[in-house]
Order: sequence, then structure tokens, then C-alpha cells
Amino acid sequence: MSGDREVWIFVEQEAGVIAPVSLELLSKGRELADELEGRVVALLLGNEVENLVEQVVHYGADVVLLADHPELELYRTLPYARVLGDLVRERGPYIFLLGATPTGRDLAPRVASAVRAGLTADCTALRIGDYEYRRQVYPDLLYQIRPAFGGNVIATIVNPETHPQMATVREGVMRMGEPDAARRGAVERVPPQFEELDVAVQVLERETRQPTCNLRAASIVVAGGVGVGSREDFALVRELAQALGGEVGASRAAVDAGFVSPEHQVGQTGATVRPRLYVACGISGAVQHRAGMDQSSKIIAINTDPEAPIFQIAHYRIVGDVKEVLPWMIRACRESAN
Ligand code: FAD
Repeated sequence: MSGDREVWIFVEQEAGVIAPVSLELLSKGRELADELEGRVVALLLGNEVENLVEQVVHYGADVVLLADHPELELYRTLPYARVLGDLVRERGPYIFLLGATPTGRDLAPRVASAVRAGLTADCTALRIGDYEYRRQVYPDLLYQIRPAFGGNVIATIVNPETHPQMATVREGVMRMGEPDAARRGAVERVPPQFEELDVAVQVLERETRQPTCNLRAASIVVAGGVGVGSREDFALVRELAQALGGEVGASRAAVDAGFVSPEHQVGQTGATVRPRLYVACGISGAVQHRAGMDQSSKIIAINTDPEAPIFQIAHYRIVGDVKEVLPWMIRACRESAN
């Protein structure tokens, strides 16, 4: 199988559950492959994970390369990098995408350096386009788009000369398509071959913690910034979130000030959220915060400063002190619920 015009997607799974970012990437990969008139190849690694093949196909894969082996039960860098590196060298895909999760961020640079490919980390958009350099036109390259220089510019990065064109993509940025149960695909088993050193690291014990919030899936987010005032006053943000049945979000400055824990951070270095309603309380609306907000959400902003940048994207603007406005909103929500 030659990798000409193939879009490869690494399907990250743990304990038989596929990471949402991988499903998002299968949907995006489908779009890119259709534009290139190529195909989507999914790489599914794990132990006894064949039951996931169908789901991967339903989300857009034409072919699933299945590496099923006891040594791949839990993610470890070297065995996973060995399998992916060998497959890339053997088949030469055109594009290779991974989620910008802790696993993807660990694995992608290992594979990229092993196969001498370029890699753009943490992309927020991907497109196909031509690129001209010194009168030479490189057609149909992958535009790898991401914020750079602290989020103050949006950079488009291309690698015209080395393949695969590799990128990691942040969770929640690409839209996950609807699974199509009628889709059919092929599965090809690829037996991994490890060297002794690949499996030298053994996992002796494992401790897992369930996340305390699920911002990415929330349909309502009430987010607080430094303007909320203090850790104690942040209780108002939680109360409104609870009254609306939503999740609590925060700006990085609010996290840094200790108002709330880091898993609540929205933005370039936090979560990307896609709620129906986003309530921004005492948040200025810095570009790095907005990078995590989907502007198709209805946005309500509360800020004492009528010139705050958040008002440029808000649908409803409340110029006022959060300590006065939030208790009023909480009361109104509770009254309308009764
Ligand atoms: P401020 O900018 O200080 O704004 C506070 C706002 O509250 C002001 O608009 C003020 O008018 C208003 N206010 C004050 N008192 C009240 C009151 N009583 N009632 C109502 N309003 C009031 N930021 C993120 O959020 N997420 C990220 O992921 C992120 N990543 C970053 C990555 C990089 C590389 C860099 C350089 C920065 C990043 N930042 C991020 C930081 C970002 O630049 C801003 O500093 C941050 O978002 C500001 O947070 P804030 O709006 O809470 O605070």
C-alpha cells in the first residue's frame, strides 16, 4: 500500500475508549482526504481493541491499520513510537495527524524525528492549499495553522519537502461529525515487531483520577476572570453555573490567582469549549482567552469597563460589577426554575 495522498490519523484509546479528539480528527481527516481525492487511514494500537474498528470506520476511516499486542495495552512511548515509525517508513503517508493530548504531544515528536518529518504542534485549523516559493509551486500542501508569539499572530506553517506533513491538533477545535453506521472500511492487521529496548520500561502500578469537570462537553459555561475579585467571590460564578446547569470556566489569570483549579481554564493553553451559552464574568477577553471560545456560542459578558475587548464578541453586554450582577442573575434563574 503506498501512502500517496493518504491522511493518517492516530486513534488514541485508553481501556477501550477512544479519545474524543481522535474522533474529531477522523472527521477532519475525511474532509481533507476528500479534497485530496485520497483516503483516511486510521492507526489503532492497543491490546484486544479490534472491537473499536467499526466505530473508527463509522467516523470516517477507509482503512484501519490494527496493531493489537499485549505490549501495547498501556501507552508507553517507545513501543508506540516503534510501531508508528515503522509504518510511516514503510508506507509513506502524505499527512499524519495526532491529538494534542499528553499522549499525542509525547508521541508525535518521537515519530517525527525518527522519520525526519516536520511537525507543527497544537494546530487550531488545517486546510489544503498551494504554496509558492522561489517560483516553484507546491500544490495541495497541508496548511498547519496555529497561534504563535503568545497568541498575537496566527501562523500558517507548511512543509513542502518532507512527508508526512505531521501535526498535532488541540482537543475540541475540530468539529466531530456524526457517525455513519452504513460506512464500510477495510481492516489490516499489522503485527508489531519490538526491539528489546523498546519494552524495557514496565508499568508496575497505575493510579488514575477522574477529571472534576468536563468543560469540552458542556452546553453552558459560566467563566470567571480576575474581575470576580477573589477565591471567595468565585463562589458566585459556581452558583450561577449550578443554577443554569452548566460548567465552571475561568481565565488563566483567575487560575493563576488561585480562584479555581487549572482544569477549568479556557483558552489557548486551556480547554477549547463549544457551549450554546458562554457567560464571561469579569474577563477582559484577551486573544488567548478567546482562542478557546467558539464564537458561534451565544456570549453574555459582564464587565465594569465598557471598552473591554470581550464586548466586541459578546451578544449581550452587561456593564456592571459582577458582585451586583451575578446575585441578580442567580436569583432570576432560580425564580424562573420554580
Ligand atoms: P484581566 O485581563 O486582568 O481582566 C479582568 C477584567 O475584569 C477587566 O476587563 C476588568 O475591567 C474587569 N473587572 C474588574 N473588576 C470587575 C468587577 N468588579 N466586575 C466586572 N468586571 C470587572 N488566558 C486565558 O484566559 N486562557 C489561556 O489559555 C491563556 N493562554 C495564554 C498563553 C500565552 C502564551 C499567553 C502569553 C497568555 C495567555 N493567557 C491566557 C493570558 C491572557 O493573555 C490574559 O492575561 C488573561 O486571559 C486575562 O485574564 P482576565 O481577563 O481574567 O484578567
